[in-house]
Amino acid sequence: MPKAQETVLEIDLTSLEHNYRYLRSKIATSTKMMAVVKAFAYGSDSVAIASRLENSGIDYFAVAYTQEGVSLRTGGIQKPVMVLHPQTHNFQLVIDNCLTPSLYSKHILTEFIKTAEELKLQDYPVHININTGLNRLGFSAEEIDDVISIFRKTSAIKLVGIYSHLGASEDLDEKEFSHSQIEKFKRTSEKIIAAFDHKILRHLCNTSGILNYPEAAFDMVRTGIGLYGYGNSAEQDKMLKPVGTLKTIISQIHHIKAEESVGYNRGFVAKRDTITATLPIGHADGISRLYGKQKTAVLIAGKEAPIIGNVCMDMLMVDVTDIDCKEGDEVIIFGKERSAEKFANKAGTISYELITSISQRVKRLIID
Ligand SMILES: *Cc1c(COP(=O)(O)O)cnc(C)c1O
Repeated sequence: MPKAQETVLEIDLTSLEHNYRYLRSKIATSTKMMAVVKAFAYGSDSVAIASRLENSGIDYFAVAYTQEGVSLRTGGIQKPVMVLHPQTHNFQLVIDNCLTPSLYSKHILTEFIKTAEELKLQDYPVHININTGLNRLGFSAEEIDDVISIFRKTSAIKLVGIYSHLGASEDLDEKEFSHSQIEKFKRTSEKIIAAFDHKILRHLCNTSGILNYPEAAFDMVRTGIGLYGYGNSAEQDKMLKPVGTLKTIISQIHHIKAEESVGYNRGFVAKRDTITATLPIGHADGISRLYGKQKTAVLIAGKEAPIIGNVCMDMLMVDVTDIDCKEGDEVIIFGKERSAEKFANKAGTISYELITSISQRVKRLIID
């Protein structure tokens, strides 16, 4: 690996392949896998990630919003792409790009049918989302009879998938809740399946669902965070490899005296003579102010250098008093050598938020 000269997010496709195979090994060979590549593939690079997974045999992709699906198509992705949260003003784009909408309310269902009928479409594939307890998006069990009859009245769209989303699959203290969601999904989806005579895919599990409730894999699983190398538990993290490594360098070193301060609003006041390093990464790059004030540390020469004072927009400062380092040396923020989950936890958040926050200003470097 060439030494970094600026802030870069390295994206290791070999690690992605490892995680993909590991997650596949947890489900039956007949079970399909949908890769969730929303939010720039969790802050990495959606086309690079999706292309590799398409070559490796992934069955399906999911994105949150329509424009993300359009980007995949523009990037040459051909497998089905489900849009978790399409919005009525995007329906034409959904159809023009052969994206599969997830429909979650009677309003969005009837609006999509209206568009599909106007365009004289036949059997345009759609999935529906069932609310089993997350109370975010989805049809309630009580609406199912109406939903079935709405589908029966049109030939413009075709129901090809039914899914729901687990709200606490990573939390083993919430097993009872997860089991109730699984049961509810089973009951509701069986009723829908019985009303049609074509094959309908059922999918419920996210990454932690696959790992903690493999019996609930149904026909397909949807995995996001696991593909990127995090498993929501220390034990699973050991089996997975972080795909993204965020690196930067030391721009400048200062020797300051006790009582001197560092950064905006004098966020750090030295208790002893201190050596500080200034790094070219800040909150505009996705390292929030929550990580400052010694909440967390970066890695320099294998040692922890606490982030001191307030994180600035474009820079942050770390304490390197006890580290042998110089200007131009490499700095690891998170990645293979240093878990994003641990970095995030120290500031009260989770790997999902940290990795998806890395802004588009940070250069992506694909490693294969
Ligand atoms: C984001 C998302 C996923 C992926 O969840 P992970 O925990 O990252 O595996 C799956 N399903 C839905 C509906 C989602 O919104």
